[in-house]
Amino acid sequence: MTQQNGMQGMKPGHLPRESRSFGKGRVCVEPGCEKVLSQYNRLNKCWAHADMKIPRLRGRKPAQEAL
Ligand SMILES: [Zn+2]
Repeated sequence: MTQQNGMQGMKPGHLPRESRSFGKGRVCVEPGCEKVLSQYNRLNKCWAHADMKIPRLRGRKPAQEAL
């Protein structure tokens, strides 16, 4: 027997009302930042100022240091 993994066509977050959006023309609330937010961005900050913390490279890359 073969079971299909996922791919059932149900997209999470699919809202019944397509007119329901976060608004267009919003800008980042960060002072000095005029980054226009995407209507799909539920945050009020741009991706750069959002809570997303970009992992900084700690030390050096372990692989392919020397060819
Ligand atoms: Zn910003």
